[in-house]
Amino acid sequence: MNAFIALIVLAALPLMAVQASYGCDDTFTVWQLPSQSRNQMNSYVMQTTGGKVIVIDGGNTEDADYLKTFLRARGNHVAMWFISHTHYDHVNALTAILKDPGQLKIDHIYASLLSDQWMSKYGLAEEQEPQTLDNFKKAAQAAHMEITDLELGQVLKLDGVTIGILGVSNPEIVENGVNNSSVVMRVWDHYKSILFPGDLGVEGGEKILHGQYKDQLKSDFVQMAHHGQNGVDKAFYQVVAPRYCLWPTPQWLWDNDMGGGKGTGPWVTQEVKSWMDELGVKKNYYQFDGLQRIQCIPRQSAEPGK
Ligand SMILES: [Zn+2]
Repeated sequence: MNAFIALIVLAALPLMAVQASYGCDDTFTVWQLPSQSRNQMNSYVMQTTGGKVIVIDGGNTEDADYLKTFLRARGNHVAMWFISHTHYDHVNALTAILKDPGQLKIDHIYASLLSDQWMSKYGLAEEQEPQTLDNFKKAAQAAHMEITDLELGQVLKLDGVTIGILGVSNPEIVENGVNNSSVVMRVWDHYKSILFPGDLGVEGGEKILHGQYKDQLKSDFVQMAHHGQNGVDKAFYQVVAPRYCLWPTPQWLWDNDMGGGKGTGPWVTQEVKSWMDELGVKKNYYQFDGLQRIQCIPRQSAEPGK
């Protein structure tokens, strides 16, 4: 009997070793932060296994205090801060933090800004576009922080994490111009990959699909463009072929609720969700469910229907 048990244990050992090699404590962590107002916003924090912190966007002015507290708990030191584009729901939290950083240290800020000339010609005053860019640049200048211009195809590395810049500002696209000038970045290590297209629209997405970085889009996770609707089109997501979706989407936008209940708005979030279902996405992470922390790739969906 004892020999029989020993045989079973021995037979199980190689299997256990294989399982251990699929552990995921040696990959970076990403958090999708919840909005601190009713507005839509985009805010992601990543931490490498060595503790280095990367931020993408940060949200509205109302999100600055929450973000500062979040970053304080992770060492008060940001190695790389990326701004996808200078709409207020992406950059204003950083603008507020630059004005009042407390003990927070930021090594580098990266962006691909449209020029002041572009803004004065095409920027929409009713969307606060020229003003938001100006406020950000002035806050960075007053804080003696340089905004480093990203280049198409640039590759940055930090502590085992690689960041590839697959899209930068597109000043020739004036339709939905600021969104279509979103930086598109792919973040990956040996274990997982995440594509962050910011608020990229159809035109900016088509430019990438027709360019030399199309083959680099495929990723395990995707941040849903423009808060989950009215961003890149289905063909773009088909090339990304994500298994997991990060939705920087408030409840009202998910519900398409303008105030009169579900389905009363002009937003097409549920149509985009149906594309993701068609693509066989296994799990969705929703901003309106609160703070989301992702490190391992889930073995199977906890909530397959959601
Ligand atoms: Zn946005």
